[in-house]
Amino acid sequence: MTINSHQDHTASYYAATANKQTVYEQLNGHKKTDVSVIGAGFTGISTALHLAERGYKVHVLEANKVGWGASGRNGGQMIGGISGESRLSRDLSKINEKIVFEMGWQGHKIIRDRVKKYNIKCDLKNGYIDVAIKPKHVRDLENYSKVLDEYNFDFGQELLNRDEVRETLGTEKYIGGLKINYNGHLHPLNLCIGEADAASDLGVVINEKSPVTKIIHGAKPVVETSKGSVEADFVVLAGNAYHFLEPKLRGAVLPVKSFIIGSEPLSTDLVNRINPQDLAVCDPNYILEYFRLSADKRLLFGRRFPYFGDNPDIIKKALIPKMLQVYPILKNTEFEFGWGGTIGVTVNRVPQLGRISDNVFYSQGYSGHGVNVTHLAGQIMADIVGGTAERFDVFSKIKPVIFPGQHLFRNQLVSLGMLYYRLIDAL
Ligand SMILES: Cc1cc2nc3c(=O)[nH]c(=O)nc-3n(C[C@H](O)[C@H](O)[C@H](O)COP(=O)(O)OP(=O)(O)OC[C@H]3O[C@@H](n4cnc5c(N)ncnc54)[C@H](O)[C@@H]3O)c2cc1C
Repeated sequence: MTINSHQDHTASYYAATANKQTVYEQLNGHKKTDVSVIGAGFTGISTALHLAERGYKVHVLEANKVGWGASGRNGGQMIGGISGESRLSRDLSKINEKIVFEMGWQGHKIIRDRVKKYNIKCDLKNGYIDVAIKPKHVRDLENYSKVLDEYNFDFGQELLNRDEVRETLGTEKYIGGLKINYNGHLHPLNLCIGEADAASDLGVVINEKSPVTKIIHGAKPVVETSKGSVEADFVVLAGNAYHFLEPKLRGAVLPVKSFIIGSEPLSTDLVNRINPQDLAVCDPNYILEYFRLSADKRLLFGRRFPYFGDNPDIIKKALIPKMLQVYPILKNTEFEFGWGGTIGVTVNRVPQLGRISDNVFYSQGYSGHGVNVTHLAGQIMADIVGGTAERFDVFSKIKPVIFPGQHLFRNQLVSLGMLYYRLIDAL
């Protein structure tokens, strides 16, 4: 794996090891299409690819670069389920509960199929473990394992006791775990770039460095940038936490930063001591810690802390002591990367898929659990454009709750929120 220097993405491990630098030209002039998509993260690109596979003409407008947002910066953990799943299922019949459960695993299939079909090199691997810190977490994992059993599907799950987790992860920190082999991990920026390539090969027009500044609603909505415009039958808003254009969605999603540090490549001896099975790992706290090894055996360790900038030194200084609580054995390891990204969090944690009008749809607010769900969402966006609303309506009937005063007091709200969740984690 070679390290290169791409300036347009944040200075992440992923940007440094991207398969290529995407070069899609800026929008220039007036264009017409079937569907215009705002945002080229997983939601936008996944939507575009699903639509193109069904024969639609699609035009994607991205303010920065393909995968520039959370999609190109995240922990790369492909984890089943949907954030807020119990809220989603609450008012549903048993049959529809099953639909929600199955939707929670659909993104994995879409990703695996695409990686294979389009030969996307993104270090996709099976293997994941949820770890427990308190006895309550162990009970939660036992219950979740039973739920997985009920669906009679080969998740390859296995409950581990304290000793087994210590052996699997080389740390004393956890008292139990649930290993799920159907989950996994991947290089998210390379996945997004590969999917964009596939979409482009199918005729999708992608414009980078083309921030949409205005949406003119109507029978044929028009989206405008400083140098051009696109008229379409449908518009899909896929800007997630970075999107502040549409007044009706303002305050629906709280942008919360999460940060990751990346080490130098670890020796085989260290790898064998801390993660010989190459699992992605997630703890159950609200302010959770997540980590895994990259393909070239760096530890990528992520966590939130109350900071709104992107200075790598500040990020490393905050996260390295947390990482050392898990792996004191890494006290002499160099950390070469430190970066952050913005997560779109909703009040009830349920992703928001809905409509602004008959021909303008949106999908956002995966609340930190988006690698698989964005891929499902893209499929559901393609469905609704085609007139099929069954799965879309499971989400759209839950109306977004607005965070009051968010555009004025965003950072204060995030700090307050973190304080609240730290208190809950401490209980
Ligand atoms: C640090 C971090 C770690 C995470 N770890 C995980 C993980 O391990 N597993 C997991 O499942 N999820 C994780 N997530 C969440 C996951 O990354 C997101 O849910 C998902 O990537 C959201 O994808 P998206 O396409 O909706 O948004 P984004 O990837 O943020 O893309 C939105 C895009 O829209 C563009 N845009 C916005 N406004 C406009 C405009 N006006 N005009 C044109 N373009 C616009 C932006 O430039 C951006 O590129 C993590 C997130 C972060 C930040």
